[in-house]
Amino acid sequence: KRAEPMREFNSSQVYIADLEAALHYLLRVELATHSTLEGEELKVFKDFITLVSKLYPGGGSVGRLMETLSDWLIRLPLHTIPYKAVLDLLENRVGIPGVFLGAELRWIGCQGSMAGLRGYPCSLWTLFHVLTVQYDSDQSALRNTGLEGEAAPVLQVMRRYVRTFFGCEECGRHFERAAKDSVDQVENAEQQVLWLWEQHNRVNNRLAGSLSDDPLFPKAPWPSPSLCASCHEEKNGVHVWNRNNVLHFLRRHYGAANLSQRYSV
Ligand code: FAD
Repeated sequence: KRAEPMREFNSSQVYIADLEAALHYLLRVELATHSTLEGEELKVFKDFITLVSKLYPGGGSVGRLMETLSDWLIRLPLHTIPYKAVLDLLENRVGIPGVFLGAELRWIGCQGSMAGLRGYPCSLWTLFHVLTVQYDSDQSALRNTGLEGEAAPVLQVMRRYVRTFFGCEECGRHFERAAKDSVDQVENAEQQVLWLWEQHNRVNNRLAGSLSDDPLFPKAPWPSPSLCASCHEEKNGVHVWNRNNVLHFLRRHYGAANLSQRYSV
């Protein structure tokens, strides 16, 4: 059962509060199951933080926290990092003004109609869609990070993060299979935006009507005609996507100008 009433929101907007809640959950809950980070795990974590610190458009205390965390990880000459040291930074025991992660998890566009539905996985998709669009608008942001050599840096980091840390192991396996099959064909930032959209729709399709489907937010091909009429076309009586219009829509929907500050920390 749901403990509190739904918060009012608009499905044609993206909420910074959801991005903050994704990072909050990822850093405080998902990562906490790894008491130390070393080797491949540490590399995957560092790349994830680097990517977010360079491309996160939400600003605020969480944006500053990601930058601080990234600088700290780059400077640290350690091969092993205890999770406790990351936690100290998150809880601002190091005392840098204006750098903190809120104490509350507050999903807005990703709130579920019942506990256990939506929330973190929804906000993780949202975060990565935002990052693909942000990279498309400023590819120089990843210069000198070690990630600039990849044709699809956001997808590669997402793939490694999901495979290594994402709590839903079945999701990780599915995503890895999809990435292995086709991510190498992604040649540029536009294709990266569209690859993630297409992959997300495949997952929606697979999960429609399953137990993880929130009855108030049923899984369906996205964007719906009401969000983007020109994304949909019919050829010989068959539905087809107009990919140019989808790309245009994704750039607008997940672009920095469409991020709402409402409910954010
Ligand atoms: P979500 O599918 O989480 O979508 C979040 C929001 O993104 C939507 O509300 C909508 O605004 C927007 N959106 C929807 N479709 C698209 C699209 N195509 N492109 C861009 N934006 C879109 N669950 C499983 O049970 N099995 C799995 O194998 C599985 N694999 C997953 C793999 C990954 C990488 C992730 C992040 C999650 C996975 N999940 C899986 C979880 C599942 O996809 C949903 O996130 C979860 O069920 C919550 O669904 P939701 O209704 O909140 O919408």
